[in-house]
Amino acid sequence: FNLMQPKNEMMLTYLPGSREKQSLKNKITEMKSSVIDIPLIIDGKEIRTGKTGQCVIPHNHGHLLANYHMAGPEEMEMAIESALKAKVKWQETPWEHRVAVFMKAAELISGPWRDTLNAATMLGQSKTVHEADADSACELMDFFRFNSFFVRQLMEEQPNGFDGVFNRMEHRPLEGFVFAVTPFNFTAIAGNLPSTPAMAGNTSVWKPASSAIYSNYFVMKLLQESGLPDGVINFVPGTGSIIGPMAMEHEMLAGIHFTGSTATFNRMWRTIAGNLEKYRSYPRIVGETGGKDFLFAHSSADVEPMVHAIIGGGFSYQGQKCSATSRVYIPESIWPETKNLLLEQLADLKVGDVEDFTNYMGAVIDRNSFDNIKSYIDHARESSEAEIISGGSYDDSKGFFVDPTVIVTTNPKFKTMEEEIFGPVVTIYVYKDADYEEALDLCESTSEYALTGGIFAQDRKAIIEMEKKLCYSAGNLYINDKTTGAYVGLQPFGGARASGTNEKVGSKQNVSRWMIPRTIKECF
Ligand code: GLU
Repeated sequence: FNLMQPKNEMMLTYLPGSREKQSLKNKITEMKSSVIDIPLIIDGKEIRTGKTGQCVIPHNHGHLLANYHMAGPEEMEMAIESALKAKVKWQETPWEHRVAVFMKAAELISGPWRDTLNAATMLGQSKTVHEADADSACELMDFFRFNSFFVRQLMEEQPNGFDGVFNRMEHRPLEGFVFAVTPFNFTAIAGNLPSTPAMAGNTSVWKPASSAIYSNYFVMKLLQESGLPDGVINFVPGTGSIIGPMAMEHEMLAGIHFTGSTATFNRMWRTIAGNLEKYRSYPRIVGETGGKDFLFAHSSADVEPMVHAIIGGGFSYQGQKCSATSRVYIPESIWPETKNLLLEQLADLKVGDVEDFTNYMGAVIDRNSFDNIKSYIDHARESSEAEIISGGSYDDSKGFFVDPTVIVTTNPKFKTMEEEIFGPVVTIYVYKDADYEEALDLCESTSEYALTGGIFAQDRKAIIEMEKKLCYSAGNLYINDKTTGAYVGLQPFGGARASGTNEKVGSKQNVSRWMIPRTIKECF
C-alpha cells in the first residue's frame, strides 16, 4: 500500500471552446432541468420526513433546484444511533481501508464527479467556475488525500525504546460519535468536517448548512459510491436549534467539528459546558468561525500586487469567506496611486449570473445575507465618517446581487471596520505616514477576530516589525499576497481569538484531534 506525500490538485482552466467547459455547461443544463428530492441519509438509507425546505439558485432565486427533507428529533435520534452502531465495525476496520474510501472519492472527483460537484456548487451557492473548481474539486480532493497521508503518519510515528523496553503508541478513535456542523461557503469544508474524523475511525452525524444542501447531498452520494459503509457518516439536514442540542446533550458525544459563525460556536460551548457531567470524556471541540481580516500596507508597498490582493481577497466569492479581506490600512503617500488603480480595475469587474463564465462575481447566498450586507452599505452611505468610492448598489429582483463596494472611512473604528459582514464590502482607512506605529496598533486592536491578514511592504525592516506586532492577529499571515485561498498541506488554515480553536483543517494536528492516543510500555 503506497501512500506518499500528496501533491495539490491543479485547477482546470475552462477556456472558451475547451472540452472541459462544454462538459460542465452540459452538466449545468442537465441539473437545472429537473427539481430533485433530497432525503436524509441515515444508516445508508434514504429517509423522507415530508417536512421540507427548498434549494434555489442564488443568482436566479425563482429557479427551484431541489426540495430537501428536514430531520426532526426522531430522525436525529436515529442518526446518532446509526453512528454508534456503525462505529463498532468501522473502528476495527484497518486504517488503510478506512482512508482508501476517501482516496477513492478523490479519484472519482478527478473523473466523472468533477462536473457534478462543480455544477452543484455553481448553481446552489452561486460560485463562479474557478471558485467552484478550486473548492468542490481541488480542495476537496486535497483534503481527502492529505488527511489520508496524515493518518498514516500518525499511525507510523512511534517513540524510542531501549534494550529490554518496547515503547509504542496506539491511536484509537474517540469513544462516541462526532457531530459535524458545516458552512455554506465551501463545499470542500462541508465534505471534510465529517470525513476527517471518519478516516480516524470515528462515525459522524453531519448537519449541513441549509443554503448548501444541494451540493452537500452530492458529496454524500459520492462518498457512498466510494464505498463508505452505512452509518459511518449520516447526512441530516434540519434546523440547528432543534437538532443541534440533541447531539450536544447526548452522553456519547465525543467531539464537534464545526465551521460557521462565532455566535453559534459560543452557544455550542455553553451547551457542552452545561452537560459536562454526562460525557464519558471531554468532547473535542474543534471549530473555525468568523474573521475580520486585514490588509496593512507600509509606504514601501508595491501598489499593483496590493490592489490585486484587495480585489481577490475582498471580492472573490462575493466576499463570503471567513478569510476575506475586509479592513484595509493604507498610508497617505501611496493612497492616490492605490485609489486610481483600484477604481480602474473595479470598473472592469463583472457581476452576474455565474453560468456566464466571464463574470467575476455571482450573487450572495440568500435573502438574509443580502439584507444584512445591504444594511452595512446603507449605514456607510448615511454616515458623515464614510464615503462609498465604488459600488454601493444592490439588486434582488432576479438574484441576490451586491456590487463590489469600497468604503473609505475617516474613523478607524467605523462599524464596517469592526464587524464581520460576509459580503463584497471592503473598508479602507487612510493613515498619515507619520502615524504608522499608531495605525499598526489600530490594526492589532480593532477586531476580536484573528483569522487571516495580509501585510504589504518591500522594506524588510517593516516586514519584520509588522509580522511581530501582528503576531496574535492572524492564524494565517500573508506577506505581499491576498488573505484568501490557503492550500491544504501548504498553508494550514485557521485562527485563534474569536476565529476559532486554530486547529488547522487539513493538517496532522487536526487529524490527531479525532484520535485517542495510548502509550504502551512493555518490559521484557
Ligand atoms: N480556507 C479558505 C481560504 O483560505 C477560507 C475558509 C473559510 O472561509 O471558512 O480562503
